[in-house]
Amino acid sequence: MSKAVVFDMQPGLKDLWFLPLGGCGEIGMNLNLYGHDGQWLMVDCGVTFYNPLQPLSTAAPKLTAEVQAADPSFICQQRERLSAIIITHAHEDHVGALIHLWPRLQAPVYCTPFTAEILRRKIARSGLSTEMPIIEIPPGGTCQCGPFLINWLNITHSIPEPQALLISTEAGKVFHTADWKMDAAPILGRAFKPQVFKRLAKQGITAMVCDSTNALKSGFSLSETACYQALLEVIKPVKQRVVVSGFSSNIGRLISLGRVAQQSGRYLALFGRAMENMLGAARQCGFWPEDIPLIDVGHIGFLPPEEVLVVATGSQGEPRAALTKLAEDRHPHLLLEENDLVIFSAIMIPGNEMLISRLIDKFKAKKIQVLQPSDTLLPIHVSGHPNQGELDLLYRYVKPAIAVPVHGELPHMQANAAVARQAGVPQQLLGQNGDLFVLAPQARCWQNFVKAGRIAIDN
Ligand SMILES: [Zn+2]
Ligand SMILES: [Zn+2]
Repeated sequence: MSKAVVFDMQPGLKDLWFLPLGGCGEIGMNLNLYGHDGQWLMVDCGVTFYNPLQPLSTAAPKLTAEVQAADPSFICQQRERLSAIIITHAHEDHVGALIHLWPRLQAPVYCTPFTAEILRRKIARSGLSTEMPIIEIPPGGTCQCGPFLINWLNITHSIPEPQALLISTEAGKVFHTADWKMDAAPILGRAFKPQVFKRLAKQGITAMVCDSTNALKSGFSLSETACYQALLEVIKPVKQRVVVSGFSSNIGRLISLGRVAQQSGRYLALFGRAMENMLGAARQCGFWPEDIPLIDVGHIGFLPPEEVLVVATGSQGEPRAALTKLAEDRHPHLLLEENDLVIFSAIMIPGNEMLISRLIDKFKAKKIQVLQPSDTLLPIHVSGHPNQGELDLLYRYVKPAIAVPVHGELPHMQANAAVARQAGVPQQLLGQNGDLFVLAPQARCWQNFVKAGRIAIDN
């Protein structure tokens, strides 16, 4: 059969297909398609950020735009077959491209209320995609999109309302984990509930499409509560100003820092537009505890040092972010002094090492103390993704017939597949963006079904 014939083929009633256009073979710009009975379902529509140090697995080599997304041409050319767009959670690698690509897609968007709030804010700021229909599904809810029945499943991650998906069709069922970890004590939202996933095994899961981000790490990720305790332990004895930098979308972490402020006699101020935006969304959705001693940014500079706790954007050394302004004494609301403490409650994203170390040097030159996760045994940052122990458990709970590792580079996905094999999953399918994973009726991976690529996103 020639490739041209295959390209025109559509999934039939007996077919269940998985076709990742982005996020498979890389971490970032997730864009997944499921095909059944002549229809497609999109799961997530994210961006990635240009990183000159990282090899581009599936990209046009010359694309150096700062923000990039998966090339959606395959589905745009047949958008009448796109039943819906499902967004699992509000991280940029899952939702960041949606308002830019939606005019070419035109399908209804389903997401939880927090993700919807983030989307509405993006639309209001950009003026893009004002016509986009957003259908809010409560966490743990259900919706029918064409031939796909979708059960949204509460899981734990590092942003409010993370959802895994059970996608049921007449040809089979997919359990799409999206980003997850097993957190028995998240600061915000429900704890991870094994029963939800053990129940799936009884339904007969054809394939589990699973997050590979931390599949090279053994053991288990640590809870957000452990991170809260670590931050409290570090900050409580300090007598100077404390600045913590981390990812603004981790509302649970912001609440932890609010509690640390409460317990250490400090006031909390949030520096950076992204922080303010996330706080607004969290408040709008009723997630922000109003007893947290939050103070207007304009007032923080007048407090004695031992009463100051600032959370600032810029943990990756971004030159325009609040943390860099603090390092260069050009923040309008606060001037740091000798012995003040700057804490990085975030990972160093590969590629950003240079920017971050330059930033740290600036603080150190002023004798401002810096604490990074690598400087301490205390978990001042915890990941939102599963280690091998969690992957193993989830495979044993769900008992899929096929494991499809995604959301990782090849070594992460290979490690994920090895865990699946050990956990008794009979078949593992490894592929990358553009490959067609036939999940039913007969499992196989068809390489280069679609030419994968990237497009620039104009931010
Ligand atoms: Zn992700
Ligand atoms: Zn995520």
